[in-house]
Amino acid sequence: MTLRTTIDFLLHDWLNTSALTERERFVDHSRETFDAVLDTCERIAREKYAPFNRLVDVEEPRTVTEPDGSLRVVLPAATLEAHKAYAASGMLSAAQDFEVGGMQLPYSVEAAANAFFACASVSIGSGMLTTGNANLLMTHGTALQKEVFAKNEFSGRFSGTMCLSEPQAGSSLSDVATRAMPDGEGFEADPLGGRYRLKGNKMWISSGEHELTDNIIHLVLAKIPDADGKLVPGTRGISLFIVPKKLVDTQGALTGVRNDVALAGLNHKLGWRGTTNTLLNFGEGTFPVGQGGYDGKGSGAVGYLVGQPGKGLQCMFHMMNEARIGVGIAATMLGMAGYYASLDYARNRPQGRPMGVGGKDASQPQVAIIEHADVKRMLLAQKSYCEGALALELYCARLVDEHHTAGGATADDARLLLEVLTPIAKSWPSEWCLEANSLAIQIHGGYGYTRDFPVEQYWRDNRLNMIHEGTHGIQATDLLGRKVLMEEGRGLKLLAARMTTSIAHAALFPALAVHGAALAQALQQVAVATQKAWATGNPTEALANAVPYMQAFGHTVLAWIWLDVATKALEHDPAQSSPATQGRMGAARFFFHYELPKIAAWLSVVESRDTTCAALPDHAF
Ligand SMILES: Cc1cc2nc3c(=O)[nH]c(=O)nc-3n(C[C@H](O)[C@H](O)[C@H](O)COP(=O)(O)OP(=O)(O)OC[C@H]3O[C@@H](n4cnc5c(N)ncnc54)[C@H](O)[C@@H]3O)c2cc1C
Repeated sequence: MTLRTTIDFLLHDWLNTSALTERERFVDHSRETFDAVLDTCERIAREKYAPFNRLVDVEEPRTVTEPDGSLRVVLPAATLEAHKAYAASGMLSAAQDFEVGGMQLPYSVEAAANAFFACASVSIGSGMLTTGNANLLMTHGTALQKEVFAKNEFSGRFSGTMCLSEPQAGSSLSDVATRAMPDGEGFEADPLGGRYRLKGNKMWISSGEHELTDNIIHLVLAKIPDADGKLVPGTRGISLFIVPKKLVDTQGALTGVRNDVALAGLNHKLGWRGTTNTLLNFGEGTFPVGQGGYDGKGSGAVGYLVGQPGKGLQCMFHMMNEARIGVGIAATMLGMAGYYASLDYARNRPQGRPMGVGGKDASQPQVAIIEHADVKRMLLAQKSYCEGALALELYCARLVDEHHTAGGATADDARLLLEVLTPIAKSWPSEWCLEANSLAIQIHGGYGYTRDFPVEQYWRDNRLNMIHEGTHGIQATDLLGRKVLMEEGRGLKLLAARMTTSIAHAALFPALAVHGAALAQALQQVAVATQKAWATGNPTEALANAVPYMQAFGHTVLAWIWLDVATKALEHDPAQSSPATQGRMGAARFFFHYELPKIAAWLSVVESRDTTCAALPDHAF
């Protein structure tokens, strides 16, 4: 099975994506147009991404100092070629309206198409950030902001960043300290948006500096001080600004004036090295703009307000579901890349002989290691984690389409289901497809531990995903502290109803009935644990074991996904005659036999509100 056949099965046989073409927004599309997009992305990924995955890891971004003292980033030529090919494919504006040059593509197809790039070379391109940035402006920006900034990002002429984190404000964005002050008389009348001067430091900014595009459009969270010059505590005071690296006029043309945004340095990362990661100084006077500013000599980065003051985080969070599904897909595809590499290796590496009742027969040739039961266990674990995660991501992507285009109660249900499932869509592949990468290394033995094989890079690249876009602990707190409780637990009930429907369908197949019963029991265990965690109403106790809760919740969700996928596989091939069906049934069985039983241990500490970790004092460590 290839990635393409797996995606085709999930998109078409399982999720019936072609049915979306009956909706007004997608009426110009068909199975053929969806396939054409997948074909194009698969080809570009194969030609422009995959061959350079190791190169961008080895030749990580570096800086050279320019005569004016500023730092210039040097990247391999292949990165520019990949960027150009991606932009030319139209994927930067895949979801946008035809009239603004987009493809009006369902998000589920866009997400599936982007999977090919993540599998081929996750870090060579930064298209996801540019698209997220421009999509945000299309929702919250003014007409001119869309025209000048977003459209130039969609064409690939400009690229985009998301500047949230600061050295002292990572998980806790309420502590953002970058300030924005009105830029003199008439600041509100600037046609590009209320004009401010920003000053502060942004840490960890992906693609924060490079020369792949004519300009870089930073979206920056900053606080506008109150009348006393103080920053409002908490997230309420956070506003959002467009801060271009180079200033532009109302036509989007570069004015020749550099904005006061300076690269302080690059972060040298464990993996994901094809993308620059930067510490940016805003407004320190490195590139003064005109007069005035913070020091009267032009210091302060020029920024244009997006949306209302104080509503910056809401604008950012508007894009959160898709951003987190994007992270989940990246994690999944890195796992999948490792699975394919280790499967190939296992089929070709002769080592050892089978152990029969009379012991081993040394006169016989060695077998390929895929013949060993333990290697099969490691392969099946990877397959069940990665193909299961891919199905989950595409299911969530389909919910995004339902939310945007189904209308009525269906759209609202999709919104609420997404609220509950998004922490899982982001975190589950980040943890378990990383584990898949570890198993891929194990299958390679000593060779897997060297840089002669790609699997160690996949693991290093994947290690990021539990950290960014809300760390694991933050996602878990969000799930147990907010998502399962919101709207009186309606999201959890909706999810339970979907699972119950799947269990009923699966019951028609004797091979799946037992798995359906196991899922029903797991669902009951999660419901009881949720209730017991909150039995005292004390968040400190309830949330002390939020991560084990998220692990159990995630495993239950994945068991459901596998049950539903296996049901569809059997509907198409009841005799299990094709290798694809045999593989899917094997992976589903693996998940139910080896993985789902783990939830009992995770939930036991949740239910008893175990404080072993929470209560141990600092000095006892
Ligand atoms: C390669 C890379 C790319 C990135 N790209 C971007 C980008 O483009 N734009 C951007 O704005 N940011 C970006 N980030 C920043 C990323 O989002 C932050 O690293 C992340 O939010 C965590 O912040 P921190 O690193 O300050 O860790 P901290 O917030 O200091 O957290 C450290 C650890 O403490 C724990 N922790 C912290 N708070 C809590 C809590 N409340 N409950 C439980 N546990 C907690 C977690 O285990 C966490 O892993 C990137 C980071 C990396 C490494």
